[in-house]
Amino acid sequence: MFDSLSDRLTGALKDLRGKGRLSDADIDRTCREIRLALLEADVSLPVVRAFISRIKERAKGQEVSAALNPAQTVVKIVNEELIGILGGETRRIQFAKNPPTIIMLAGLQGAGKTTLAGKLGHWLKKQGHTPLLVACDLQRPGAVQQLQIVGERAEVPVFAPHPGTGVGGEGELGVTAGDPVSVAKAGVEEAKAKLYDVVIIDTAGRLGIDAELMKQASDIRDATQPDEVLFVVDAMIGQDAVTTAEAFAEGVDFTGVVLTKLDGDARGGAALSVREVTGRPIMFASSGEKLDDFDVFHPDRMASRILG
Ligand code: GDP
Repeated sequence: MFDSLSDRLTGALKDLRGKGRLSDADIDRTCREIRLALLEADVSLPVVRAFISRIKERAKGQEVSAALNPAQTVVKIVNEELIGILGGETRRIQFAKNPPTIIMLAGLQGAGKTTLAGKLGHWLKKQGHTPLLVACDLQRPGAVQQLQIVGERAEVPVFAPHPGTGVGGEGELGVTAGDPVSVAKAGVEEAKAKLYDVVIIDTAGRLGIDAELMKQASDIRDATQPDEVLFVVDAMIGQDAVTTAEAFAEGVDFTGVVLTKLDGDARGGAALSVREVTGRPIMFASSGEKLDDFDVFHPDRMASRILG
């Protein structure tokens, strides 16, 4: 997804090589090229502005380093600032002191929440956890069954309402099939009773942001008090990734971001702006439809990948 950005940035920085001294004009020219590369990759304008101004300031005031020549110093500054935009440190799941740890997924329809629930469950299981998936997307036809299929593939159990019966899970909990908040609460109770140590709650999304979607997600959040609320966003949707992230940060609040579809061929820079715009860390990245196309998001590795 970031090949073209990567080519442009390495190209811009390559021009500085071999120069014994960098004039302010050299730095301005390089910054102009970096700016264009970022804008072309669809990184948000305010993020680009702040990024470029930090690079200029640091590059122009750069200390003479015995170990690095001026060009290498600029590359180092760009790398550090890119890592900064992407969140700095890797942010890992904060597990609850008293299990179960509750992780709620939120985002638009089609963002990849259900797929992610399976991937996250599979990943947690490989680390020795005992996750339970809870099907609270009762809006989209087939979403519950989809989660059940995903759970089967990941070999992670799924707690779901039985359609039409008004009864949830294994038939004991008296859950109303149409009420996602009750299903979420019953799912957490199920995890406590059966000693699952992580609960992953899949919630409903819509094609666009709307008040009802936000209310339902924040009702589930209030009822279950999750340790993590992950905002799942499709990196292919361009600047909508940023506007959606802002709307969810305000409407539901979240503790971390999951970028999906990083295997796509869209420009993807907008998704990279989400951390800077919302202040919430990008925690995971999904890059395909297979269970293992998923990893913890490491800002430093992503920056190295982008800088080639
Ligand atoms: P939800 O509506 O948010 O639950 O989204 P789904 O999990 O149903 O995903 C929507 C579509 O995107 C499905 O066809 C998934 O197979 C696909 N999908 C999800 N994650 C990825 C990914 O990382 N890469 C690709 N290429 N497709 C994905």
